[in-house]
Amino acid sequence: MIKESILNVNKALSRTLISLADYVINPYRGCTFGCIYCYTQYNKNILKKKEKWGDFIEIKKDIPLLLDKELKLISPKKVLMGSTTEIFQYPELKYGITQKILEILKSHNIPFVILTKSYLIKDFAHILSYHPSNKIYFTFMFSDENIRKLFEPNDSSLERRKEAISALLKNNVNTKIHIGPFIPYTDDLANLFSLIPDGIKDVQIEIYNSKVGNISNLVSMVKDKISIDTAKKIEEVYRSKENYDLFVEDTKKEADLVNKKHGFNINIVVPRFDSCYNNNEIKY
Ligand code: SF4
Repeated sequence: MIKESILNVNKALSRTLISLADYVINPYRGCTFGCIYCYTQYNKNILKKKEKWGDFIEIKKDIPLLLDKELKLISPKKVLMGSTTEIFQYPELKYGITQKILEILKSHNIPFVILTKSYLIKDFAHILSYHPSNKIYFTFMFSDENIRKLFEPNDSSLERRKEAISALLKNNVNTKIHIGPFIPYTDDLANLFSLIPDGIKDVQIEIYNSKVGNISNLVSMVKDKISIDTAKKIEEVYRSKENYDLFVEDTKKEADLVNKKHGFNINIVVPRFDSCYNNNEIKY
């Protein structure tokens, strides 16, 4: 049972250091999708909660009103939607916060970047292409439904994601595939690339960041469902910088090889081994 509550906030826009935008809006706190790898579960406000990650959501119902006021004073170059929550989760159908925010951004002609893995986005496809800089990063990182359910228990199925991506492309929404956080040895790029719908040009692979997340915790959550060998291999990658660098190098080679058949523009985001921030990016 999901616990819903209202969260009173005093501002809509927050400055961000994430390179995708200068401001961020998160219409909800918590996320009912409850992905077990989610970095947000380690945020200090979330750690204080009694409920398990995925079992609660706080609705920031005043955000649309606040945003309208703030946009009279601030002119963001770009707004990132959903850095710590999924903006198209089921409570959105009841509260409509994301929809109102999108309408306000559209009325001010402010572009956005959206991070999502929800097929519910397809019902918003017609309002997402109002600005040429609008961008969707759609997460697609498991090719096997059983593995997907293990890591993303409440998220959209692969088939539904493919349908949503096709709906976005049909509505001329600039859509990129985000394979991330890419957890070592949970899938292979050949399978993933072969499932990417026609019409997608850009693929971003973002390696799991164990400094922001927690690889030991993650492995312990799935160790009964994956082989001991796989569990050991995943932990081994993060045991030393050398192992990590080797894994990154292998991933790059594998992406190169697999991509010969597809010709995507690939961008690999490699979190620094020893720091929460400062990603290195490999573009080719
Ligand atoms: S959908 Fe995104 S925000 Fe929600 S739990 Fe999964 S990774 Fe976290």
